[in-house]
Amino acid sequence: MSNIRKKTIAIVGSGASGTACFLQIILKYIVEGKDSPLEIRLFEKRDTFGEGLAFGTGQEGHLLNTKAGLMGIFPHERLHFVQWMHQNRDMIARDFPQVSIHPDAYPPRMLFGRYVRTILEEYCAIAGAHGIVVHLCRSEVVDATIKRNNTLAIITEKGEKYTVDYAILATGNPASSTFHKLHKHPRFFDSPWPSSRILSTITNKQARVSIVGSSLTAIDALITLIDNGHTGPITFFSLSGLLPRVQPPVQVSYERKVFTLANVRKSIREKRKPLRLTDLIRMFRSEAESYLAQPIDWAAEERTGKDPLALLDQDIRLATGESCLLQNILYSLRDETYALWRLLPVDQKELFLRWMKPHFDINRHAIPIENGIKIGEVLRSGQLTVIGNTDDISWKNDRFLLKTADGIEKEADFVINASGPTVAVQKLIDQPLLPNLLKKGYIEEHPIGGILADLDTLRVETSSRKRPSPLYVIGHQLAGLQLDINSLWFNVEQADLLTGDLLKHIR
Ligand SMILES: Cc1cc2nc3c(=O)[nH]c(=O)nc-3n(C[C@H](O)[C@H](O)[C@H](O)COP(=O)(O)OP(=O)(O)OC[C@H]3O[C@@H](n4cnc5c(N)ncnc54)[C@H](O)[C@@H]3O)c2cc1C
Repeated sequence: MSNIRKKTIAIVGSGASGTACFLQIILKYIVEGKDSPLEIRLFEKRDTFGEGLAFGTGQEGHLLNTKAGLMGIFPHERLHFVQWMHQNRDMIARDFPQVSIHPDAYPPRMLFGRYVRTILEEYCAIAGAHGIVVHLCRSEVVDATIKRNNTLAIITEKGEKYTVDYAILATGNPASSTFHKLHKHPRFFDSPWPSSRILSTITNKQARVSIVGSSLTAIDALITLIDNGHTGPITFFSLSGLLPRVQPPVQVSYERKVFTLANVRKSIREKRKPLRLTDLIRMFRSEAESYLAQPIDWAAEERTGKDPLALLDQDIRLATGESCLLQNILYSLRDETYALWRLLPVDQKELFLRWMKPHFDINRHAIPIENGIKIGEVLRSGQLTVIGNTDDISWKNDRFLLKTADGIEKEADFVINASGPTVAVQKLIDQPLLPNLLKKGYIEEHPIGGILADLDTLRVETSSRKRPSPLYVIGHQLAGLQLDINSLWFNVEQADLLTGDLLKHIR
């Protein structure tokens, strides 16, 4: 053992994705009986490891938007979080008395964060017992240099330098880069997190607050405000003006007969032409119509421009009653979506992102019914208004002015940008590392977002460098290549793939 050179792996970012990689490296090292000395450096710029931005919220009202039964941190053990909750039921009864332990429940994200943190601590101890050296480095990685021998010098914001053999980029969800000119404004928040920043700044509970966006991120910002006694008017300003749909308390299983991966592949084979987005839409519609044995008025399904409260009430009725067929079909596609996405050529992916994504997202990333009811209450009371078709914000006469394309104007004392994380590396405003790697040619941008990597290994790919990259990537930075990066279960399975390849290079 002593003759073999020690290998060092850096994991940059210790959110759920980075932690999932960490757990798999340790597990695989032990199970596969590796004997090269191994050192892992886990870097995290936040105060705590394991939770990340997604699950490090300090607000109990921020719920998981994926049912607990899909949230296991170990690949393919989707129920592991629920099992952990059962094992920790006394702690849960004490600290989260309202939580029911069930695969279909949507517990607070902070409880999930606690779960990931606990497992991380457990695996630090297991690593120690097997001779793996683990360093938890509480600092931001701001740059890296690939040396002649293909190792990496990792540089932190404190100026520390570490040489490692491989680095996993698990940097997660960056802030939005829109409304750049307002970023420095003291009443403009470039992201709804951390909630403490919003709460300590918006102390006037009657202030007028505009939230840019109307998706899950915007709902987080809304819940931060109303759960903490905000009574002033709140507006969602978004391009689509669409609210996420509501998840049923118990998910209904659906067996697809028409819209199957087999039929998609058969169609490609028979036509001998690349897949088109319209092929998928046709199959989706045909699936729904054949289930109902009658045609559907698809124009009537269009939600844009309709009263959000009426739609929300209808969704709550569907979620608690007969359930929504279209949502059931989409949820049943969970394990095949990525395979379908990989079959779409880039131009068709672009078309999907421009044309279909908002409609897909409101169905696929729907809200738990508890949040649906909460939003219904503030819409009904008139405290919340949803305004679509807008992206014009300016600061005039000591207040923000927000305008829509159809001439509506609203004033606000504060604006929270909840329009979602940016996918363009060049536009990142809060993460110097990736723009620095881009400048050096160590990573290349994918035309529709994130960076390029080999999808079978998640090893970074570039056209200019000849040697295999010492960099791997997981999560949000694969936005252009993978559709499901905002689902934990997907990232956890990708962590399995990534670490499987990386560990091949460790004896
Ligand atoms: C608010 C929110 C809620 C979500 N809720 C759900 C949900 O309920 N269910 C679900 O399945 N998915 C959810 N997601 C999707 C989520 O992104 C994925 O589940 C993902 O796996 C989360 O983990 P992550 O580690 O990729 O990202 P993040 O949670 O963003 O973590 C990345 C971490 O990297 C750190 N970091 C970044 N750059 C550096 C650097 N240069 N140096 C050091 N540290 C760095 C950050 O501080 C952060 O802690 C949510 C996402 C968000 C943003």
